[in-house]
Amino acid sequence: MSKFWSPFVKDLVPYIPGEQPKLSKLVKLNTNENPYGPSPRAVAAMQAELGETLRLYPDPSGDRLKRAVADYYGVRPEQVFVGNGSDEVLAHAFHGLFQHREPLLFPDISYSFYPVYCGLYDIDFRAIPLNDDFQIDVADYAQPNGGIIFPNPNAPTGCLLGLGAIERLLESNSDSVVLIDEAYIDFGGESAIALVDRYANLLVTQTLSKSRSLAGLRVGLAVGHPDLIEALERIKNSFNSYPLDRIAIAGAAAAFEDREHFERTRRQVIDSRETVTAAMEALGFEVLPSSANFIFARHPQRDASEIAAKLREQGVIVRHFKTARIDQFLRITIGTPEQNQVLLDSLRQLL
Ligand code: PMP
Repeated sequence: MSKFWSPFVKDLVPYIPGEQPKLSKLVKLNTNENPYGPSPRAVAAMQAELGETLRLYPDPSGDRLKRAVADYYGVRPEQVFVGNGSDEVLAHAFHGLFQHREPLLFPDISYSFYPVYCGLYDIDFRAIPLNDDFQIDVADYAQPNGGIIFPNPNAPTGCLLGLGAIERLLESNSDSVVLIDEAYIDFGGESAIALVDRYANLLVTQTLSKSRSLAGLRVGLAVGHPDLIEALERIKNSFNSYPLDRIAIAGAAAAFEDREHFERTRRQVIDSRETVTAAMEALGFEVLPSSANFIFARHPQRDASEIAAKLREQGVIVRHFKTARIDQFLRITIGTPEQNQVLLDSLRQLL
C-alpha cells in the first residue's frame, strides 16, 4: 500500500490465479488447461505473423477471427465480439451490460472472478446456493435482478444445465442480460449460441484456452444480439482499440478452421474423463457428473486438502475447495492418459 493509491485501489480485492509452476516434471492438473496442445494449423498461422508485418497495427475489429467464429456457429460476424481471454470479455460485459438497479445473480459455488468484477465495477450481487445435487435450479433465479451470469458447465462443479432450462430463464428474465459463460462447453454440452437469434437478452462467452488449447494466447469471444455486441465494442474502444494482436487473430482464426484437430482432441479429453471418473469411483470417491475437462470429487473419509498436499509431494498438482457450502472437494483437470495414470497411482498409494 502507498500514499499514492486511490481509496478505490486500497479496497480492491483482486482475483488470485491458480499456481503456474515452472517445474516441467510436475503433473499439472490444477488450472484446466488442455494437455494436447493447439492445432498445428494455428501454430503455423501464428508463425507466419512473426515477421515484418508486426510493424503494422492489427485489424482493430479482428475481422478474420470474427468470420471464423461466425462460420463455425452459423451466426453473423456482427454477432461476435473478441477479446484478450474470456476474462477480459467478461470484464467488458460486467462493465457495460449489467444494470445497477438490482443485484446481479450467480450461483454459489461458481467462477470466483465474478465477485471480483462486481467489486471492480461496483455491482451488487447475490450468490444463489446450488441445490442439494450441486445443480443450478433456474426457479431460484425468479427474483428481481440486474443480470444473471453462470458458467455452463458450471465451474468448479462441471455440472451442465440443459438448453430447455436456459430458455426458461431467458423467458422469465427478458429485462435482464443472461450471460452464459461457456468456457468448458465443448467437453459435453450444447452451446446456447443456438439460441442467440431468439433471445435479445442472451450473451454467450467462450474461450480458446480450454478445448482449443491456447490458454497462453489469451483469446476469448462473445456471441449475442448485435446490440449487446455493440455495447462491448464501445467499452473496448474506450479502453484499448487493439485488443487482439496480429498473432492472436491469426492463430485463433486458424484454430476455429481446423475442425479435425479440435474434434479429435476434445474426444480424447472426454474419453479420459470417463476413465478417470470410473477409476476414482472405484477408489471410493464421489465424483459429480462432469461435462467439462475436469472433475469435482470428494472422498467420504479423507480430507481434500490433505489429499491435495500428499499428491503435491508426489508431483501431482490439483485444486481443493473448501467453502461454507462446498467442503472437501478436489478439482482435478483431465490430463493425458499417462498423466491420469500417475494421478490414479498416487491416489491408490495414499488412500
Ligand atoms: N470462465 C470460467 C468459468 C473459467 O473457468 C475460466 C478460466 N479460468 C475463464 C472464464 C477464463 O478463461 P480465459 O480468460 O482463459 O479465456
